[in-house]
Amino acid sequence: MASVGFIGLGNMGAPMMRNLLKAGHAVRAFDLSDAARKAAADAGAAACATAADAAREADVVVSMLPAGSHVRAVMLGEAGTFAAARKGTLFIDSSTIDVATARLLSGEAEAAGHAMVDAPVSGGVGGAEAGTLTFMVGGHDAAFEWARPFLEAMGKTIVHAGGPGNGQAAKICNNMLLGISMIGTCEAFALAEKLGLDAQKLFDIASKSSGQCWSMTTYCPVPGPVPTSPANRDYKAGFTAAMMLKDLKLAVEAAGVAGAAVPLGGEAAQLYSMMVGGGEGGLDFSAIIHLLRGRA
Ligand code: NAD
Repeated sequence: MASVGFIGLGNMGAPMMRNLLKAGHAVRAFDLSDAARKAAADAGAAACATAADAAREADVVVSMLPAGSHVRAVMLGEAGTFAAARKGTLFIDSSTIDVATARLLSGEAEAAGHAMVDAPVSGGVGGAEAGTLTFMVGGHDAAFEWARPFLEAMGKTIVHAGGPGNGQAAKICNNMLLGISMIGTCEAFALAEKLGLDAQKLFDIASKSSGQCWSMTTYCPVPGPVPTSPANRDYKAGFTAAMMLKDLKLAVEAAGVAGAAVPLGGEAAQLYSMMVGGGEGGLDFSAIIHLLRGRA
């Protein structure tokens, strides 16, 4: 069993960390929040005073932080985890961050004598608790194989997406498609309402026709057709609109750097921006149907 440093004990990080403890690893945990550190200690981890302390003795360091700026602040510089860790430590960053930062950090890790993978997740808080997350992993082959057993302690599906940054690339491409397909699905259901077509009838037909997609058949944005979807519980997230907006912005930013045209991704970002600006950022992202019906 290994010594694992864990940095970022929020909604996702705390249950992921607990699954590493369950797998028998010794965890040294750090978060800026006192309450999060205390909860980690109660769960059986050693609470550390700084991120560098969590990394110093570790074989592997996992991070689950809000954005690229936080990950850079934690890892780089004299007080950062790259400087503090023993040479030859494996860094696994599971935060959703921009591709450019993920690639920069991978290079900095190697320059400091470490290995690194970017390993963002899908599956949400439920998946983090159940240990069923999907990990999309970017990094060199050896680093991926090294990371695999740790990822398997926290997730069910582990996919090697290619070299450094490709885990983040996979995540934002998937979520951009999801954001666009959800808006399309909501438009179809909102139009059906205006045309007097029953939502269940549209579902029965479109879910067996060429309009079929996950946003409809698993996560239907109107109550009824898919009883487990957030629409049936007043759009309690789920995956919040604010998080969808974050991922869409990352996709549009990456497309700008790469010279890729993402007109619908850009439009989706604008629509989610309106939803979040209208005060619905904490609702599930499928609640964008309110905006499309004209009543946010
Ligand atoms: P969160 O806000 O609940 O947790 C982030 C934690 O990081 C907080 O506890 C915060 O105190 C801590 N933190 C911030 N800066 C820090 C620093 N410098 N040092 C140490 N700790 C610091 O966020 P979350 O929902 O756990 O999400 C984490 C990441 O996972 C994000 O990148 C998010 O986009 C991604 N993600 C979240 C979900 C989800 O459903 N919540 C799903 C997929 C991916």
